[in-house]
Amino acid sequence: MARKAKVRLYVEHALGAGQMVPLSREQAHYLFGVMRLGVGDALFVFNGEAGEWRVDVVEADKRRGVLACVEQTAPQSQPPDLWLLFAPIKKARTDFIVEKAAEMGAARICPVLTDFTNAERVRVDRLQAHAVEAAEQCGGTFVPEVAAPVKLADMLGQWPEERQLMFCNEGLVGSAAGLSGKPGPWAVLIGPEGGFSEGERSRLAAMEQAHPVSLGPRILRADTAAVAALTMWQMALGDWQ
Ligand code: SAM
Repeated sequence: MARKAKVRLYVEHALGAGQMVPLSREQAHYLFGVMRLGVGDALFVFNGEAGEWRVDVVEADKRRGVLACVEQTAPQSQPPDLWLLFAPIKKARTDFIVEKAAEMGAARICPVLTDFTNAERVRVDRLQAHAVEAAEQCGGTFVPEVAAPVKLADMLGQWPEERQLMFCNEGLVGSAAGLSGKPGPWAVLIGPEGGFSEGERSRLAAMEQAHPVSLGPRILRADTAAVAALTMWQMALGDWQ
């Protein structure tokens, strides 16, 4: 018999033994219209705070439905305190960066407008929906927040004292790749297609918290660079060790 896919759904509702969870119209459409679930079927839900729960469908309709919590199937797990700062690029590639950052365990995703950022309008609600889908797909119990875009200069101007910054500097291409530093709050910074301006480089060079790094011998596209940098950070200081 073919194995049924494990259906996981993010809900913005309290979860606990015996708790009833009402569904939105979109969620009901997805579960009953797309995934073909019905009353009595089981699936898994999480809300970003209470771990993962097995729930049973107790009401199912095209536009609404209700789930009943049965048992907790995984505890809540928080990712390391890692932000991804990236300059938005073309829509599909920006979507990719957000999806991969959520899968790779970033705790917060921050689009930053750099001197050479050349992007269409950033729709934070769409990007947040991509982060939710990625968390549903990858088995996580946490959904990273996608912050509203801010100017990189403004963000660096109010940079938290204790947060280290992995500055992915294309100017170091060809140098040995690697990251050293202490565990704790960190952020990874990836530039746009045009790279960082001289002004941004000098500003970053003057920051005590900034660690300039190379991502190897080739210039990577910004979306590839985001995945490579998150991998490097997770292996050196994160939860892949
Ligand atoms: N136009 C720039 C150039 O030719 O120098 C390249 C920018 S690259 C497409 C986009 C971003 O990815 C860079 O700003 C940097 O943050 C990161 N990146 C790409 N390759 C890198 C490398 N080998 N080392 C460090 N950072 C890299």
